[in-house]
Amino acid sequence: MNDAQYEAVKDWCEGCLKAWVPRLGLDRYYLEFVWHRSFNPSGNIDCLASASGNWKYLSGFVEIWVPAVWNQFDEVTMLPNWPGDLEIVMVHELTHIVLNEMREWATDDDSSMKHEERVVTEVSRLFYSLYKDRDDDVQS
Ligand SMILES: [Zn+2]
Repeated sequence: MNDAQYEAVKDWCEGCLKAWVPRLGLDRYYLEFVWHRSFNPSGNIDCLASASGNWKYLSGFVEIWVPAVWNQFDEVTMLPNWPGDLEIVMVHELTHIVLNEMREWATDDDSSMKHEERVVTEVSRLFYSLYKDRDDDVQS
C-alpha cells in the first residue's frame, strides 16, 4: 500500500467517523484512533477495524487496519466500492464503545461476546438506517 492509498482510506474513514462520533453521543468521550499500515495480527485479513471502550471513564479506542480497508476501495476513484457497507463497519465499531457496559456481564467463555456482537450489529444498522437518506449523509 502506498502513501496515497493510505491517505485515501484515512481521509474517507475520518470523514465518516467525524460525522458519527457526535451522532452516537461519543463526542463526550475521550477517543483514540490508531491507523495501522498492516492487517490485523490475528491473520484475519477481512478484519477492517476493532474497538474497545471503558464505559466507566467514557473512553474508547478504535484501531483501523488500513490495508484491509483499502481492499474495499476502487483503485481508480480511490473511494470505497460500497460506501454504505464501509460506513456500517465504522458505525458498528463505534457502537461497541457505546454499549461497552455490556461487558460487565461477560463470562470467561466466548458466548457473551457473541451476544454483544449481535446486539451491536442490530443497533448499529438501526442507527445507520436513521441517517442514510438524510442530507448530511456521509456519502452525500
Ligand atoms: Zn463487532
